[in-house]
Amino acid sequence: MAGLQLRYETGLTGEQYVSARAWRAARLDRCPNHPGGGCSLCRHGSYERKTPAGARVARWYCPESHTTFSLLPDCLAARLPGTLADLEAVVVAAEDARSLESAANALRADAVELPGALRWVRRRVRLVHNVLVRIIGLIPDRLAGCAAMMGAVRARLASDRALMELRGLVAGQLRTLPAPLGFQPHGLGAGGRKPSFQHPVGPDPPPVAS
Ligand SMILES: [Zn+2]
Repeated sequence: MAGLQLRYETGLTGEQYVSARAWRAARLDRCPNHPGGGCSLCRHGSYERKTPAGARVARWYCPESHTTFSLLPDCLAARLPGTLADLEAVVVAAEDARSLESAANALRADAVELPGALRWVRRRVRLVHNVLVRIIGLIPDRLAGCAAMMGAVRARLASDRALMELRGLVAGQLRTLPAPLGFQPHGLGAGGRKPSFQHPVGPDPPPVAS
């Protein structure tokens, strides 16, 4: 059974989303696989996210195409625990720190060992920078010439909820953009190792004349 994530447009923070139990208000009027209608699309409960505690994600099911659709609210990271705001704060702290080690120490004071904390921070920085590189060219009116750094993007957007705002700014491309902002797997592998493959970072090749 295929599972697709869709955007649930909401300005709620993670806390507000949980306290309002806003997944219950999520709507999916049209099946993405059958935009003309005709299938038996139905509500399919919700599933729990471990962080933030109490958060759930509304889900629909199309039996004809054997596909579930999850409506991920703008406050939550895709394919990674937690909120985009928390993720953004980690990346900003890492960018501002003297070293990744000092950032890991400060951010994960609870962590048992530094290597684990380092992997945790490094992974988040890589995931976010990976998606920023792709997004900057998509919204040149907002980010032309901007460095693919969380701090720089924040300054450009004049927002300390920049990742959440970017969800909305690139809403049309979320299906093809990598997690944790977009809904595609990021393809970077785990931990601090080298990516198993690399997407081209430049602009799309010119279209083939037909
Ligand atoms: Zn359908």
